[in-house]
Amino acid sequence: MARLLLSVSVPMSASSSRRIVVPGTARHRGRSGVCVAVPATSTATATQQEFDPAAAPPFGLGDIRAAIPKHCWVKDPWRSMGYVVRDVVLVLGLAAAAARLDSWLVWPLYWAAQGTMFWALFVLGHDCGHGSFSNNPRLNSVVGHILHSSILVPYNGWRISHRTHHQNHGHVDKDESWHPLPERLFKSLDSVVLMLRFRLPFPMLVYPFYLANRSPGKSGSHFHPASDLFQPSESKQVLTSTACWLAMVALLAGLAFLMGPLQMLKLYLVPYWVFVMWLDFVTYLHHHGHNDKLPWYRGKVVYS
Ligand SMILES: [Zn+2]
Repeated sequence: MARLLLSVSVPMSASSSRRIVVPGTARHRGRSGVCVAVPATSTATATQQEFDPAAAPPFGLGDIRAAIPKHCWVKDPWRSMGYVVRDVVLVLGLAAAAARLDSWLVWPLYWAAQGTMFWALFVLGHDCGHGSFSNNPRLNSVVGHILHSSILVPYNGWRISHRTHHQNHGHVDKDESWHPLPERLFKSLDSVVLMLRFRLPFPMLVYPFYLANRSPGKSGSHFHPASDLFQPSESKQVLTSTACWLAMVALLAGLAFLMGPLQMLKLYLVPYWVFVMWLDFVTYLHHHGHNDKLPWYRGKVVYS
């Protein structure tokens, strides 16, 4: 962290700060939407046109909230459940159609379509975790467990670490995943981890390994209640989700026994990996911007 701050020459002393106005904006705002003091030298390059990578965004959360139409804040559990029913019907329908046709012409199309539908299930479970699915925590938890367990995601384990991610977005030390790696950590990684992290296609397949082992430089697991990802008070929730995950694994094993492992590979496992690719791809796009506009640490750290 110290290296990062040094590399962008931002002084730590509060006395060297002053108020600034960012060109093209009414005021320079912090996260809360109020004016903030910014270190003087960090804005030395700010001109009328130039982007200042060391400046906080010219808007706060309050501005974003205010820009979203009021009706978008209304949660409708019936509508949310409608999406769940629609997606589950589609998943079952696709699987039934592919199993019936059982043609190598059809399987690749099925994998692409079903992997995308698994991703749709993940997004609905993600909304349950955020509480945007409905105002009923129990409904959110039950639906979230069913949806995420069905695609081998431990609902509470990931929900809690995802909350930590949102609270520390882009923070080099505290963010959960997809944050910039300090040079010290980057140099300490072995060649296998570096390949998995930075060489395509491996970063597109890392999600299950992240669930099991977290990011480089961090310890613990999304499945283990004693992991330092979680508070002691959350251990029951984590255990419940791990038990649901295990039940899904047992169900898949039973189905493989009944239908044969090749059929399960075609029906479930390949779409699962397509879903993982969607997840990693979308997450990558969410967390990477234009090189010239990467704030705070442009060119000074490895952005993973
Ligand atoms: Zn989220």
